[in-house]
This record gives sequence, C-alpha cells and structure tokens, in this order.
Amino acid sequence: MKKIKIYEGKAKKIFKCCKPNLLIQHFKDDATAFNNKKKGVIPGKGIINNFISELIMCKLSDLNIPNHFVKRLNMREQLIYKLDIIPIEIVIRNIAAGSLSKRLGIEEGKVLDKPLIEFFLKDDELNDPLVSEEHIINFGWANTEEIDDIVSISLRINDFLCGYFLSSNIRLIDFKLEFGRYWKEDNSIIMLGDEISPDNCRLWDSKSNKKMDKDRFRENLGEVDKAYKEVAFRLGVLSEKEFKKVLKNEV
Ligand code: C5P
Repeated sequence: MKKIKIYEGKAKKIFKCCKPNLLIQHFKDDATAFNNKKKGVIPGKGIINNFISELIMCKLSDLNIPNHFVKRLNMREQLIYKLDIIPIEIVIRNIAAGSLSKRLGIEEGKVLDKPLIEFFLKDDELNDPLVSEEHIINFGWANTEEIDDIVSISLRINDFLCGYFLSSNIRLIDFKLEFGRYWKEDNSIIMLGDEISPDNCRLWDSKSNKKMDKDRFRENLGEVDKAYKEVAFRLGVLSEKEFKKVLKNEV
C-alpha cells in the first residue's frame, strides 16, 4: 500500500498511518543550513538520527517526560503520536555558540552561569526570528500555562542530556526542541515532538572540543558523516559493522 505523505521538511517526511492519532516520521539524509541557503547530503544521517532520537526519546519516557515517540519501524522511520505543533522553536544553551555569540558578541565557548532558554518563531520567510514569552502569549501561539510546561520540561531534558552525553565524553553546548499539543477528546497535554540528534544539538568532544554535529556542515569543517557516526557509536546505538551493512543494503 502506498503511504500518503502529508508533509516534507528539510530533513524529514511525515506520512499518514493506520490510526488517526499516529503518524510515521521518516528521516532523510538531506541537510540544509542558513534557512535553506546551503544544501547538501550527509550519507546515512537519516539512519543515525532515527536511532539516536529513538534512544533519547526512550530515556526521556523512562523519566516520565511526555514525547511523541511510539516505536522505531525500520532504519529510517518511526511511529509517532500526532501533535498539534506549537510554532515555536525552544533553544536551550549551556555554552555560548552560534547565533547567541553572533547576536550579542559573546565569545564562543563561554560557559553560561545557568541554562539560557530562547524562543524562535518557526517561520522561514521571516528567518525564524527571536521572540519573547510576551509575543508568544500576545499572538496566541501558546498560553502561559503551556509556556511554563515547555520551560520546565526543557530544563529537565537539559539536565538529563548534559549528564547522559558527558558519560560518552560529549559536551552538550546547546540544542533545539519543538513541542506540540496531544489531544485526548477536549483536553491537551504538552508533548515533546521532532527529534533529538546531531542535527539539532551542538555536541563537542569533552577533551578536544572538536565539533561533532551539524556545525561541521554549516562551517565546511569536513568529515560530517564521520562525526555523526562517532556520536552514534559513542552512545552505543549502532556499531560500525551494523551501520556499513545497513547502508550497503540500501544501495
Ligand atoms: O543557530 P543557533 O545558535 O540559534 O542554534 C542553537 C541550537 O539550535 C543549535 O544546536 C542548532 O543546531 C539548533 N537549531 C536547530 N534548528 C534551527 C535553528 C537552530 O536545530 N532552525
């Protein structure tokens, strides 16, 4: 049976599923940066992100952090709960880098006194502008209660992930989350959606500070696929042998 695609983004496709409250999330190898101005392909990225995201979402479920992951279906796809996505990207920063460094002239690598949360409106035409909680409430993108939930869940995720990555000698510099409403009849709860992977996290080796994430693609640092694989191997989600076998079978 042909799957019905309902959305295609820069790195993922979403398909309809057998049940109305579920969807299929497919991970592509395509990579984009600077709001689609830079495009490329990172071979095997989709597989790696599917596995890493599965691992992390399962760990978050163990901590009772509600998220959309149901189960992995195959190498590139996972079953997820259908959410009514809130059009805001939540960025949590532990160390200054990226747009924070550029915008405020803060030196890259400066350890922040406490985690910093920023909100960006998901709007490609406007270049995903930084917005405040006041904007979010005023324009009805989310209400105060929902923002409180999003912030407290994001901080819990950050606490867990910092320690989890560090146990694999990786520093979590910053990352982006997306949330949505999961409806049960007339009530909704806030649930984490999207993915958690080297596409939306800045990850540095804890000893050398070598970048192991999408910044290698953004900044033309080379060995992008090698860095993604290294993260997966360190987290123990795939071995070099398994990964090679999967890629070979796909060709
Ligand atoms: O570019 P910036 O410094 O604001 O990015 C902060 C974090 O959010 C980085 O880990 C980056 O990979 C992630 N991000 C993302 N998708 C975006 C913007 C940022 O995953 N559209």
